[in-house]
Amino acid sequence: MFNELGLSPKVVSAVEAAGYTKPTPIQAAAIPHALEKKDVLGLAQTGTGKTASFVLPMLSLLEKGRARARMPRTLILEPTRELAAQVEESFEKYGVNHKLTVALLIGGVSFEEQNRKIDRGADVVIATPGRLLDHLERGKLLLQQVEIFVVDEADRMLDMGFIPDIERICKILPAKRQTLFFSATMPKEIVSLVDRFLKDPVRVEV
Ligand code: AMP
Repeated sequence: MFNELGLSPKVVSAVEAAGYTKPTPIQAAAIPHALEKKDVLGLAQTGTGKTASFVLPMLSLLEKGRARARMPRTLILEPTRELAAQVEESFEKYGVNHKLTVALLIGGVSFEEQNRKIDRGADVVIATPGRLLDHLERGKLLLQQVEIFVVDEADRMLDMGFIPDIERICKILPAKRQTLFFSATMPKEIVSLVDRFLKDPVRVEV
């Protein structure tokens, strides 16, 4: 049951309203560790319910505090615009009881609307690496308040040539942060990334 994982009542009621009664294996395994603010290495494919395995604990952890202008509290990297948009939909679905500002920073759309969200103070930034770096280079977005960093579909990021971008972003992020990292497979480039940028991660495999 979702109420046995340690999630906040607001999150549990949103998940139940969405029609889900039982956590999937990746959710049952990852959520309690994420709620304890541990780094998590999740080996899971799309379709396993992995999105909720990071969105739900993030919503719970974000209930305390508020984002300041241009300083998001969480950052999620996705390899494609479509995946980033799907994660935004998950925040809408599971975050109905929350008043959070979510900014979707993807290419192909104007900077204006994205800047407005960032200026207002985004609790959650969901981005593709290229557009995130564009915002950072314009000096409009600051990462020093990021508490939770998520890398989703890391092996697809590798296939798309995004590893150097992810390394750059990791080096800008505060050292004191929580990292949740998901990949379906673990090629050596991904193992190296995990070794360098995660701290004592709990490995969760489904
Ligand atoms: P994902 O692996 O995150 O892409 O999720 C795959 C699909 O599973 C999505 O359509 C979700 O809406 C759905 N899903 C997520 N969690 C659950 C759950 N606990 N029970 C049933 N379906 C779920």
